[in-house]
Amino acid sequence: MTIIETLVSPLRPAAATLLQPASISSIYSLGAALMIAFAWLALRRRRRGRPVVVKALVRAIFSRRVLLHRSTFADLAYCVIGLATLGAIIGWAVVSTSWISDGVAAFLTRCLGPHPEPHAPDFVLNGARTLALFLAYDLGFFIDHTLKHRIPALWELHKAHHSAEVLTPLVNFRVHPLDSLILANNLALIIGLIGGAAQYALGRQAVSFTLFDQNVLMLLYIYLTAQLQHSEIWIPFTGVWGRVFMSPAHHQLHHSADPAHFNCNLGASLAIWDWLAGSLRMPPSEPPRLAFGVSGHAHDPHCVMGLVVDPAVNAVRALIASLSSPADRGLDRESTAAPPRDSRSAV
Ligand SMILES: [Zn+2]
Ligand SMILES: [Zn+2]
Repeated sequence: MTIIETLVSPLRPAAATLLQPASISSIYSLGAALMIAFAWLALRRRRRGRPVVVKALVRAIFSRRVLLHRSTFADLAYCVIGLATLGAIIGWAVVSTSWISDGVAAFLTRCLGPHPEPHAPDFVLNGARTLALFLAYDLGFFIDHTLKHRIPALWELHKAHHSAEVLTPLVNFRVHPLDSLILANNLALIIGLIGGAAQYALGRQAVSFTLFDQNVLMLLYIYLTAQLQHSEIWIPFTGVWGRVFMSPAHHQLHHSADPAHFNCNLGASLAIWDWLAGSLRMPPSEPPRLAFGVSGHAHDPHCVMGLVVDPAVNAVRALIASLSSPADRGLDRESTAAPPRDSRSAV
């Protein structure tokens, strides 16, 4: 291996992730998000009877205040490190989805007897499996995210994600490695449990509809809302839509530093889990004044100490504290010191 190959080899997984169409971090889904953002802002201007000026749209989407913020530079560093190590983190997940799935299907067969072959066309069985695994992912994310907001030790790790003071798609990467590892295990467990039940009910021959090796429903989420959820472009789903699907505005409220918004909208693509659990906060049609971030950091939340070391140390401390005094479990989420920002853009 040449010196150049040695130097660039850590970047190969990063490049592969960026160029993989099914990846939640691909340049293709980012491009789709940009097009949706342009179309949404242009439509909003037109509805208000204002001319659609491309320059104004570009300024609103590529806001200098957001792009040149220290928080964004920290996200960029986390992005490079995260892309290079994400595969390893997922590889460290101790829970195997297929192992659990096969175990659940075998357990159900032992307890209930072999499930009769379902009499339904293949596309119905495949569609049911596609939906079951998509719901399993979304429910798994919701349960994991709820635990991260309810258990003090887990909140200390998850707080690194919430320490972002401006929102761009790069915040997707601002996740502590231990937070990612716990998510990977929780997802494997819940997808394994639901996937096993689906395998038993639908038969082994039922397979998910996929594109680029990704569940097609998951792909829709990745291309339509996943990137925009970490942006400052206010795209709200209201009414019934907002009770079923998690819009970008829903997740912006989740990141809000206003205590009235703490612990709301914990789902990924679906809002139904929050609706059922009572944690759904519907976004208003017009953008409210929002500030993002959390306070109470011992070190700068945009440097290695504040972003990587402190969360791990604080998580261990919180774990020890909760073990020694289980009654004292309240989360101390102070509001950010930053004044609320008017998130209403010029367009
Ligand atoms: Zn959160
Ligand atoms: Zn987030």
